Amino acid sequence: MRDGTKAPGGDEQALLRRLPSVDSLLRDARLRELAERAGQALVTDAIREVLDEARATIRRGAPAPEPEALILAALGRARAWLSPSLRPVLNATGVILQTNLGRAPLSSRALAAMSQAAAYSNLEYDLDAGRRSSRYVHAEGMLRRLTGAEGALLTNNNAGAILLVLSTLASGRQVVISRGQLVEIGGGFRIPEVLRQSGARLVEVGTTNRTYVRDYEAAIGPDTALLLYVHTSNYRLVGFVHQPEVAELSALAHERDLVLAVDLGSGALLDTSAFGLAHEPTVQECLRAGADLVTFSGDKLLGGPQAGIIVGRADLIGRLRTHPLTRALRVDKLTIAAMGATLASYLEERAIEELPVWQMIAAPAEMLRERARRLAEGIRTLGVEAEVIEGRSTVGGGSLPGETLPTFLAALRVPSADALARRLRLGDPAVVARIEEDRLLLDLRTIPPERDGDLLRALEQALRS
Ligand SMILES: *Cc1c(COP(=O)(O)O)cnc(C)c1O
Repeated sequence: MRDGTKAPGGDEQALLRRLPSVDSLLRDARLRELAERAGQALVTDAIREVLDEARATIRRGAPAPEPEALILAALGRARAWLSPSLRPVLNATGVILQTNLGRAPLSSRALAAMSQAAAYSNLEYDLDAGRRSSRYVHAEGMLRRLTGAEGALLTNNNAGAILLVLSTLASGRQVVISRGQLVEIGGGFRIPEVLRQSGARLVEVGTTNRTYVRDYEAAIGPDTALLLYVHTSNYRLVGFVHQPEVAELSALAHERDLVLAVDLGSGALLDTSAFGLAHEPTVQECLRAGADLVTFSGDKLLGGPQAGIIVGRADLIGRLRTHPLTRALRVDKLTIAAMGATLASYLEERAIEELPVWQMIAAPAEMLRERARRLAEGIRTLGVEAEVIEGRSTVGGGSLPGETLPTFLAALRVPSADALARRLRLGDPAVVARIEEDRLLLDLRTIPPERDGDLLRALEQALRS
């Protein structure tokens, strides 16, 4: 608020009395216009709050705000109440699957499918027979074809998928897992805690760095229901380490009539090693190696909407489907629509061209250099020192830990990189950048090329303010 009348010693009451009333502020054209559009009650509430704060300010001995400042504050507050806090962001961090920024951006094909499904759809309706059907049939056929699994089921996310698998198949019984795979994903999601939630009892085997098949074998008893293999998706054990292969564990599980469930985390369908990255185990490989059930996320390397995907044996999928938790974890029509469109891109072998995640992974460094060069040029015309430097992008989102892709960054030297980064975050569109050694770094790998102009405009705005 701007400076107003200075409070003369002790004349607080006079200042308080001089504050405009709610009614007089409501006569302002801007507030009236907003009240007509969004309702009198909301605008009145905003004005009341602003006036309450003005009174508190005066009581602290500070100057009384001018009416204009009160009006602007009330307008700002009412508008903030009206606008959803979820806002689009330009991700200039170079982290492709940034969990805080919503992980995988969806393909335009997925967006179109969501928009169509937002109206009525045959979500749980068999159009041929004219009767009730299941929402799970929509993705199942595609997932079976893509992965070679007998059955498939969607949940709201992979954490839910694991919870469902363990609750259905191992509640009240034992689950054997290697100490090297007791993963925390982030956001406090820990495999041992999900296990406990499901009512299963955790039997840890091996040591942090080394676990052998014989460790699992020795732990199996009459109460054992399931062996759980968790892909260490966000960290890597290196050095003197050993973990059994999925194929070895599946042989053991089947010999003892147990289920082998694999939590793959990211669950790639394409081979990441074709893009200069380490090989992330694919869902298909895992099933071929004998896993009975594989769970993975829809919004990591798959490049689709947030979801958990469970693929595997038809009899087990059937049991999962009828568990009461499935109802609590079920996916909505928009997710099913986006998933169907995303999977169609894979089935047509167009995933790399159509899915943003793969486009970003596959983006050639030379193209990124050229875009960074043009961006830096644009930034210099704003009177700011900018150059193109080499850097690394990461896949992120709990996949391919330590793996990076070569990239080129626009690097800005400004008096305060922190202050500029904040103005960029608060701009429209919001931009999230990286800071390194007092420089602001922009990685265009995670910006769609058609948004380069918007990025420059956002920079211009932030540099001007
Ligand atoms: C990311 C991840 C999860 C959690 O998946 P969400 O879809 O975020 O619920 C579970 N396990 C592993 C190994 C993961 O990498």
